[in-house]
Amino acid sequence: MRLVFFIKPTFYKGCIMSQVFDQHHTDKMPLPMVAKIKFMNHVNDEHQDELALFVEAFADTKLSNDMAVVVAEVYSNGLLLEASVQNVEALPNHKVEMLSDGISQFFIEFENVIDETITLKSQYINLLQVASKKLGKLAIKQQERYFTVIDGYYASPNMFRLVVAAPADTPLNYAGYAYLFEMNTDVSISHNSAAASEKLQRYYTLRKAWQDAETQQIQGWVDIYIHGDTSGGNWARAVQAGTQLKSVHDYPERIAHLNDGQCLLLCDETSMPTVANLLENWQNPIAPIVIVMTNDGAELSYLQELELSQTLAEINSFKQDNIVHILNTPSIDLPDAIVSAIDTRLEDGSILIEKVWGALSAADAKILRRQLKTKFDLSRQDMVMKVYWRTS
Ligand SMILES: Cc1cc2nc3c(=O)[nH]c(=O)nc-3n(C[C@H](O)[C@H](O)[C@H](O)COP(=O)(O)OP(=O)(O)OC[C@H]3O[C@@H](n4cnc5c(N)ncnc54)[C@H](O)[C@@H]3O)c2cc1C
Repeated sequence: MRLVFFIKPTFYKGCIMSQVFDQHHTDKMPLPMVAKIKFMNHVNDEHQDELALFVEAFADTKLSNDMAVVVAEVYSNGLLLEASVQNVEALPNHKVEMLSDGISQFFIEFENVIDETITLKSQYINLLQVASKKLGKLAIKQQERYFTVIDGYYASPNMFRLVVAAPADTPLNYAGYAYLFEMNTDVSISHNSAAASEKLQRYYTLRKAWQDAETQQIQGWVDIYIHGDTSGGNWARAVQAGTQLKSVHDYPERIAHLNDGQCLLLCDETSMPTVANLLENWQNPIAPIVIVMTNDGAELSYLQELELSQTLAEINSFKQDNIVHILNTPSIDLPDAIVSAIDTRLEDGSILIEKVWGALSAADAKILRRQLKTKFDLSRQDMVMKVYWRTS
């Protein structure tokens, strides 16, 4: 027997409420589109933490950490989530009961039914926003943001820095705050008319932001890894001072778990901006261990030259001891190299990793997410391993 909970997140007088619906009140139609398979594979592989968030927010049920929650089906009006409930740690007002086969299903209803004008992506993001707001967490925002380019230069051999004037409400100290930039501007890809007709978008992180003392303007850095002749790199190098950049999403990384405990940070060139910002603002009294993979050894200067937070600056030789570099070459198995670098650093047995944040390629993130979660016995909340790029 399986138990199905029908949950519709709704707004009521400015509050967000969850209502559990009876099966008879829900008109379920599986979505016929091919894209749903891609969506399900992607979310089930990389965003299980968000699915657990939906269950927690809309069913008032906290799922235990060793439990997987997946999208079992996508309907035009909602998602059917499936979770094993053997180890459920229900909140006081829980609605989940133990079942004989240890599986529970939760139907999370979309705000709007998907049709030609309403996309699955928009409804998923809406669920994410409502769930995050309900649980007091920051979430992706679908909003237009405009930045004006002030300058551009290389911050390290392959990291091209755009200095920008940013909107007044830009977060000044949030490491890992990214924007989805649109590149179909006049200057970016005009040499390629086929590509120009597509919507070309790339995520880049706000490396740092500050208020200019003279003008009071908010300014920031956006650092773009240049890896050959690619759209993102070409766009960044082509923009001129005065060019307006448009972003359509704000995306805050999940970093709150790094506030305490022994942390391990993993980055490559694409996630170095987040790690650099984390190290500049680090308040956790326990210094993190940082594993950084770059394709060019000289790229390490990007992290070695930054000004550490006061907490880290007081630690003797933090940069030498705690920033471990791996030179990425085509012949190495990167996940293996990362695990052995961690083992070497932890050799004396005095350090126990309690939290992880990392962002890498899809293939490496998938392997390391599983390996490190098991190796350090980490909970879903304490293990964030993001995909920042994928091999095409
Ligand atoms: C939330 C978030 C924040 C991000 N922040 C940053 C940031 O601050 N700075 C930054 O540089 N990137 C960042 N990225 C990664 C960036 O969005 C991707 O690397 C993006 O695909 C680059 O676009 P592109 O046009 O250069 O390459 P694409 O057109 O995506 O790909 C072209 C080719 O390059 C390969 N490729 C893509 N990325 C890499 C890579 N890193 N190394 C080697 N090969 C690659 C692809 O497999 C493909 O073969 C972020 C990603 C996310 C999700």
